[in-house]
Amino acid sequence: MSPDEAAAPATPPAPAAKPQNRIGLVQDAYKGLESTLCNGCGHDAITASLVRTLWEMDVEPHRVAKMSGIGCSSKTTAYFLNGAWGFNAVHGRMPSVATGALLANRTLLPVGVSGDGDTASIGMGQFVHLIRRNVPIVYVIENNGVYGLTKGQFSATADRGSKSKWGVVNEMEPIDCCGLAIELGCGFVARSFAADKKQLESVLKAALAYRGTAVVDVVSPCVTFNNHPGSTKSYDWGREHEKHIHEVGFVPHWQQVEVDVPDGESRSIEMPDGSRIVLRKVDRDFDPTVAMEAVRLLRESRGRGEFLTGIFHLRTGQPTFDQQLGLVEEPLATLPEARVRPPRAVLEAVMHSLK
Ligand code: SF4
Repeated sequence: MSPDEAAAPATPPAPAAKPQNRIGLVQDAYKGLESTLCNGCGHDAITASLVRTLWEMDVEPHRVAKMSGIGCSSKTTAYFLNGAWGFNAVHGRMPSVATGALLANRTLLPVGVSGDGDTASIGMGQFVHLIRRNVPIVYVIENNGVYGLTKGQFSATADRGSKSKWGVVNEMEPIDCCGLAIELGCGFVARSFAADKKQLESVLKAALAYRGTAVVDVVSPCVTFNNHPGSTKSYDWGREHEKHIHEVGFVPHWQQVEVDVPDGESRSIEMPDGSRIVLRKVDRDFDPTVAMEAVRLLRESRGRGEFLTGIFHLRTGQPTFDQQLGLVEEPLATLPEARVRPPRAVLEAVMHSLK
């Protein structure tokens, strides 16, 4: 080595290439704009989980339709998946817009993000009909028990006895979006916690693999208006009280691994795309395929003031809205005019029948 070579600074090692998913995209491709929410808002934790989940599930960004309504939660669709389609509807009207988008193009994967106000108050009529129709969508409720955007009034999901930031006690019973969804026949109903990243991401993967309306109610603390002692939607309360009804594992269809499922301890449920959800028993016998068991568990746990999380109900094989309508495989949005315009003779016959 010459003296010049000895004095030359060492060449820094090339930065390691970022890992890619099976469709060749790095995780950054699933990010969106920078969040403008309050620092520490639970909604940002959910966004981060959505970014990782969509990346790990190899979802093609251009297939996703991000749908939302109004509220802090509904701003979050701007913070993930820049390359997706998106529509920010008026308050509580996201379900009907998502239904229209899906019917126009049934190859889309709608991901709806709503809040407890957007879903359980002004949007309740839309929410129940979305479920009744079984519109295929992942419907995330970012549930913080307050209206953050209008300075912290109790929402319809606030627990009875929970205290506001100003010490007011909520005297009204909450609407349980999970219990309601099960009563309405929803085939995928889960509850999770924004701070429980591992469980939330397994639940989101399962919801993405489901075919039909998948309701994921996520307790998502509002650090500005509902994160104090006495609140039942705060980080501290959630961490102290969260109980898993089972451990949720997800095995994607492309991982042909043997899963150890001991009899009586776990159950494996196959999803329409061949993926499997493995639910490992924690401390109770619970069959999520039986709706009545889930409803009973939710009601009893509410009476005891428990915060249970996991997949409460899972039933595959129900026809989705587009299947019920018998839509052609090819998206309506791309059918040429010649195939959507009835022939003159048919139109004349219709006109004649109306005379
Ligand atoms: Fe999040 Fe609450 Fe801030 Fe809204 S007001 S961004 S819900 S912390």
